[in-house]
Amino acid sequence: MLQLITILNRCHRFPGFVYQRARFSPDHKSIEIAMRPRKGSKAICSRCHQPAPGYDQLVERRFEFIPFWGFLVFLLYSMRRVDCRHCHAVVVEEVPWADGKRTLTKAYMLFLARWARRLSWKETAEVFRTSWDKVFDAVEHVVTWGLEHRVLGQIDAIGVDEIQYARGHKYLTLVYQIDLGVTRLLWIGKERTIESFQGFFTAMGEDVISKIVFVCSDMWEPYLKLIRERCSEALHILDRFHIVANMNKALDNVRAEETSRMKREGRAPVLRKSRWLLLRRSENLGTDQHFRLRDLLRYNLKTVRAYLLKEAFQQLWEYNSPVWAGKFLDEWCRQTMRSRIEPMKKIARSLRNHRELILNYFRAQKLLSSGVVEGLNNKAKVTMRKSYGFRTYRILELALYHSLGKLPEPDSTHDFF
Ligand SMILES: [Zn+2]
Repeated sequence: MLQLITILNRCHRFPGFVYQRARFSPDHKSIEIAMRPRKGSKAICSRCHQPAPGYDQLVERRFEFIPFWGFLVFLLYSMRRVDCRHCHAVVVEEVPWADGKRTLTKAYMLFLARWARRLSWKETAEVFRTSWDKVFDAVEHVVTWGLEHRVLGQIDAIGVDEIQYARGHKYLTLVYQIDLGVTRLLWIGKERTIESFQGFFTAMGEDVISKIVFVCSDMWEPYLKLIRERCSEALHILDRFHIVANMNKALDNVRAEETSRMKREGRAPVLRKSRWLLLRRSENLGTDQHFRLRDLLRYNLKTVRAYLLKEAFQQLWEYNSPVWAGKFLDEWCRQTMRSRIEPMKKIARSLRNHRELILNYFRAQKLLSSGVVEGLNNKAKVTMRKSYGFRTYRILELALYHSLGKLPEPDSTHDFF
């Protein structure tokens, strides 16, 4: 007869330890498997990782293992303490199936963390009848291991992005690797200040930083300043995605302001429900929406003029030559400065100030896959949205590294699915 212990020895076996017996818990809801050290095996000091003579034994601990046919599974083991000569101290032993004081086995943490990448953490906890805190522990263990063991290697291109989180104006700075073959989240910083962004350069080290060839970012001044200083050899490109996003924001302000002014003046609400009509690229509209847009464009409104400026600007991205792109950009800014629409004029002023960085997009475009930062930004937002439980920065940080970091996973002798 195939026994539970036989299966465990096949998939979760550790030299120096033996499975003693398996039994149901008194309420028959879980299975408890007692473990003990193999006779004559020495305990390992958890501080210096060397074998050390035994000192005493602590009370039995329960380590949660992967559930099985609707039963929770626990490994029971009394930790030994060693009298370590290297450390000159009495230290708890290190056991290969667990990580420090965590109550879940490594195998179960890896198992939960993999699911927590597909489901929300809350759903993961529900499906496996465990708590949200344990899912947090699992992800923390796996991400910490992954960050310690990841290989940075040569990084050619990075993208710097900011994301608003929580309510109010709280921002995160995200730095991605955006090489043609590898895209991943490299680093997360709280805030979007010079001090926090400085942390990225410290974390990567001069050796990695000095070899970076391209940097993509938006127009946020602290980013621009540090990139100028720290990556002076790299080609700095203002990212298309961020420019378009700023333009949409400006248009949206014009629309909101004009809508409420028309309402105050008692005029027909022609702008009602026009938001998505105006923000979406016109080629992405359905037939009905096309007709509505055509109607709307007949009005002499600031919003309509701002919309036409925004649409005209899209032509910039069609250019191949930086010279012609530059001429187009100058002309667009000249027209916009005459528009008497303040949010759009603000965009034009800022585009003029960053002219060279924008034209770098055309100098580099054959070498960078465009739209990568946008894709990663969307993925980061989805991760945050899936995360109604994410109350603290730490949780958000772990979730983002977990889903976007492409981190290596702890080794496992058996694939538990
Ligand atoms: Zn030691």
